[in-house]
Amino acid sequence: MPLEKMFVSDARDAAHVGKTVLIQGWIRTRRDSKGGFSFLEINDGSCMGNIQVIADADLANYKDEIQRLSAGCSVAIEGEVKASEGKQATEIQASQVTVLGWADDFPLQKKRHSFEKLREWAHIRARSNTFGAVARVRNQICQSIHQFFHENNFLYVHTPIITASDCEGAGEMFKVTTLDLDRLAKSGGPVNYEYDFFDKPSFLTVSGQLEAETYATALGRVYTFGPTFRAENSNTSRHLSEFWMIEPEAAFFDLADDMALAESFLRKILSDVLNRCDEDLQFFDQRIQKGLIESLRKVAETPFQHMTYTDAIKVLENCGESFEFPIAWGTDLQAEHERYLTEKHVAGPLILTDYPSTIKPFYMRLSDDRKTVAAMDVLVPGVGEIIGGSQREERLDVLTQRMAEMDLREEDYWWYLDLRRYGTVPHAGFGLGLERLVQYTTGMANIRDVIPFPRTPGNAEF
Ligand code: ATP
Ligand code: MN
Repeated sequence: MPLEKMFVSDARDAAHVGKTVLIQGWIRTRRDSKGGFSFLEINDGSCMGNIQVIADADLANYKDEIQRLSAGCSVAIEGEVKASEGKQATEIQASQVTVLGWADDFPLQKKRHSFEKLREWAHIRARSNTFGAVARVRNQICQSIHQFFHENNFLYVHTPIITASDCEGAGEMFKVTTLDLDRLAKSGGPVNYEYDFFDKPSFLTVSGQLEAETYATALGRVYTFGPTFRAENSNTSRHLSEFWMIEPEAAFFDLADDMALAESFLRKILSDVLNRCDEDLQFFDQRIQKGLIESLRKVAETPFQHMTYTDAIKVLENCGESFEFPIAWGTDLQAEHERYLTEKHVAGPLILTDYPSTIKPFYMRLSDDRKTVAAMDVLVPGVGEIIGGSQREERLDVLTQRMAEMDLREEDYWWYLDLRRYGTVPHAGFGLGLERLVQYTTGMANIRDVIPFPRTPGNAEF
């Protein structure tokens, strides 16, 4: 009978003592004892911790192979799970050690490498404690996202990645073309998009919201969760050129419903991560951000604070802090302002509402004061803006008026306007950047370290 394959996470559980199992993974360390045996620490990614394997000198390949094992080698271990006298609950007494792959000059040796260095080794950094833990937490968050929406009757819809509409009207988009740029450069232009693949200028999407609205106004509650792209040249610790965005959109939702949704959503994610990723969070708490667990727990339990943009401006004007960017009503908040408000002023998550219409996109619902829109941003300590959302403008005349003010052509948005022509309803939604959420839950300082292969200006290796 073939041996039971077991993950390290299970083998570390005392419930499995007495079983003979097969463990497959990678060596983290080898230590030879004077007593004539070796300790092998094996990790298979199933959890943060390793399983300790005891390999006796009487194993056939002890001298030739086992004593040559080093960090990075892949092995298959057959043996019995035993209760351990050490710190760990269990260990494995090996009856056979098979070397699957050697790892001479493996770059991840015991000494700690900087995160900058590890970015150059993105193909192997997942084998380090930090990046293994990030991957597991990121996975848990994604599972919880789908579960949360499923439980709340939101339908998962797939919106296109290639699009001809610019959702934000901001124009920071990557162009998608099959035109031969070298030939075009030689010919000196002009570009005739009728010869291009889609017959008109096309781009990688910056948001699935406009398309999601079409399904929300048919199916009620929907969400998208997919890659989004921004060609903005911002080299910050919270911007990527390619990131994953979660965008719920719900019919018959107003701004208050939208904020309540965002809050219960974040709370669900955090409590799931706290309950299911304890070992990884302990690691982040000790090595990356002291007090992380305590602060996440607090956030999972306490209601979020709310404040209008107008009040936030007053707070910032009177706080005595010297900011790099000046602040006045009508200006967009910079990261430093957002972080002051969430970190110093309320010391927790903060929902800012009712922004000036001039700094927000055309689709946000104009309020009765005609100066502000029904927008909300969720700010969290350490990151700043994590969610941007709003009630959408459902009144055709107000919407077209706003588009005219922003020089957007109605014919480019004909189908979006149709949603207001045929059975329009109040509706609202938000966009949450997955990587900013992973940053927040792990305490990782740089967004490049919470996605497997970060894309930023000048970087598309791997
Ligand atoms: P910021 O002001 O921080 O650049 P934004 O106002 O451009 O954000 P939105 O267009 O509202 O952001 O996008 C919704 C969410 O997507 C943001 O709240 C954020 O979590 C995330 N996000 C936006 N741009 C990026 C980016 N370049 N990299 C990673 N996440 C992003
Ligand atoms: Mn941005």
